[in-house]
Amino acid sequence: MKEALRSYAVLFSILFLFVKPAAQKDPRTEKDYEMKEPKRTILAIGAHAGDMEIACGAVLAKQAQMGDRVVFLHLTLGEGGNPRMSAGQYGKQKKREAVEVDSLLGGESIFGPYKDGELPDDQAARRYVANVIRKVKPTDIITHWKNSIHPDHASAHAITVDAVLLASLPSVSTLTPYSRTEFPEWRGVRRILYTENWEDMEGYQPYIYVDVTESFDVWAKAVAKYEFIGGNISSFPYLNYYKALATVRGAEGGFRYAETFDIDKFEKKLKWRSLEP
Ligand SMILES: [Zn+2]
Repeated sequence: MKEALRSYAVLFSILFLFVKPAAQKDPRTEKDYEMKEPKRTILAIGAHAGDMEIACGAVLAKQAQMGDRVVFLHLTLGEGGNPRMSAGQYGKQKKREAVEVDSLLGGESIFGPYKDGELPDDQAARRYVANVIRKVKPTDIITHWKNSIHPDHASAHAITVDAVLLASLPSVSTLTPYSRTEFPEWRGVRRILYTENWEDMEGYQPYIYVDVTESFDVWAKAVAKYEFIGGNISSFPYLNYYKALATVRGAEGGFRYAETFDIDKFEKKLKWRSLEP
């Protein structure tokens, strides 16, 4: 009986080989798979709306075009920077501008609860940012360099670096008055990059050069939608400065245009199996 069953099994296998339809070609392209699961989720955390976009927006636009998810967290709106408008009025304008610019760069916007010039360098702010990290689940985080002439920038750096650790610890609660839903721990942050900003240059070393030649025009057009960048609010020539900087960094890096990042000193190590040729 067993023998007979085995013979039937063999026969069915052979028949199946003959009747099996030809493998259908999967209509989805490789690009579809890439789009389904973003390669990276990049969370750019700036002290003021506009900080991340002006300093590294061309890199973010490029990554978004490549299928990465890009999220901006603006800890404050930077609403105090317009001498011709009240903070309330200018804050509304900055929020509108941020949503438009971030979208043009291919990103999403999250707005923190803090006031311009009053970003608190405290544990509650760390827990707030840690909760955003848990929610967004970034693989890459970008923020300010540690030294700055603007206290909000230096605070944003310190808060962000500590928040990455807090987000990863299941024992840490990230509930704050601003975070009603607590998300589970997130340990997937692979790197923290510090962006090049004219106010944050003390001790900054341009270490990683990213080619932004392809996204330069999209970036320049997008960021000019911020009135402080494209208009006359500030005496600092934001757009010209950052266009010139991208040109200089491009020349140094061997590209037409580049934006740079620094990393922590302890991360600056090359690991070779033998002496490179
Ligand atoms: Zn700023």
